[in-house]
Amino acid sequence: MIKSLPVRTRLAGWYTAVLSVGLIVFSLIVWLILRHMLYADFSAMLVNQARGFEEYLHIEEKEHASDLVREMDEFSKSLPQDHLLMVYDASENLIYSNKPVAAHQSWERGHYFEVRRSIALDRGPVKVVLSISTAATDRAVTLLGWLLALAVPFFALGAAGGGYWLSRKALLPVDGITERARLIGIGNLSERLDVPQTRDELQRLTETWNAMLARLDAAVSRISRFTADASHELRTPVAIIRLAAENALRKSRPEIEYRTALARIQRESENMTCLIDDLLFLARADVEQSSAAVDLVDLRELVRDVCSDVAALAAAKNLTVNQQVPAHSVSVAGRTADLRRMLLILLDNAVKYTPEEGFIRIQLDQADDQAILRIEDSGIGIPEEARTRVFQRFFRVDPSRSKESGGYGLGLAIAQAIVQRHNASIELQSNAAGGCIFSVSMPVAA
Ligand code: ADP
Repeated sequence: MIKSLPVRTRLAGWYTAVLSVGLIVFSLIVWLILRHMLYADFSAMLVNQARGFEEYLHIEEKEHASDLVREMDEFSKSLPQDHLLMVYDASENLIYSNKPVAAHQSWERGHYFEVRRSIALDRGPVKVVLSISTAATDRAVTLLGWLLALAVPFFALGAAGGGYWLSRKALLPVDGITERARLIGIGNLSERLDVPQTRDELQRLTETWNAMLARLDAAVSRISRFTADASHELRTPVAIIRLAAENALRKSRPEIEYRTALARIQRESENMTCLIDDLLFLARADVEQSSAAVDLVDLRELVRDVCSDVAALAAAKNLTVNQQVPAHSVSVAGRTADLRRMLLILLDNAVKYTPEEGFIRIQLDQADDQAILRIEDSGIGIPEEARTRVFQRFFRVDPSRSKESGGYGLGLAIAQAIVQRHNASIELQSNAAGGCIFSVSMPVAA
């Protein structure tokens, strides 16, 4: 229920509650301490006066034994108006009172403090009752009680109003940010919120919002570009397939021509299947942050395996493939299929972009807790200015050239996505001969 209330109401509510409890406790303590101090003073004073009266009686008894009552009266003149002094003899008969007996009743009705004292005189014991009316103090204490009781709700109400106003004022900019943020959609992701230079939570909030918008903007642009590039790449094979079919169907032809057209369609369909497969892989890599199934992959085994896979392709171009693996196995945690795919992409590129009679070297090493895989070729290399972009999707150094070899510029992007999934890194350098060196380093499995 409370959670559904606006923040400002909750803030004001909490503020008021805490303040009210504080005020109530404070008022109660003040009232109790004050009352205790006042009444403690009364009793201390009465005890003193009674003691004084006792001493006085002892002295007076010696000097004016016959007229002790008059001496009592003498003493009571020194007492303030609000004191009542009564003296009883051993058989509880009132022998002296400083006020008429009629006044005793009203005295008893009111509040008073009293001390009783038995005094042994020569003429027999007497009982002294000395009391003081606390009416004035009672009135003051009651009045203070009422004042405090009224002040607490008064201040609490003030605090509620003030707290609501303050939190409203403090949260007003948040409403502004919310309004602005509400207007930002996929169409205007490049817009940003105004950052108040207040060095507070609001500044951090808007900066965080803006950083998030920037990330979203970049992601959406990337996806849009990717979709546009993908559609563009898919258009060509589809157009070829359509043209081949339309041509074949335009008139009746000999069987060989149909076969040629169908073979063309088949080839393009295969290309398209590969492209769609790559696109799907990248799209999945964007949403899946980590590889779900983790195997223990022996990279040495993998290198041997993939090398034998590309051996035929390399042999067709008369390339020398040199394999250098350590004597012990080097295991990493990952997905065998993905790592195999990454290695195949790098080796396939090396074969594709290395002219006949060249060489390819695959090297696996372990340095501390890192497994390092190097794929080096003596090929045409990648120009300096293109090196940072080769991992981008659909990037080709020379589109016309790599199109001939069937590449869409997705291979290295896929390799990088795989590398990232495995907490690894991939780096591109060039060797003295101008060829490429791709080195991948990834943590060795414990
Ligand atoms: P593609 O499918 O076109 O090969 P990649 O993403 O695998 O796409 O590579 C991107 C571009 O990087 C290629 O078009 C090519 O120009 C360049 N490239 C990749 N590997 C090599 C290499 N070993 N030697 C020279 N150029 C390379």
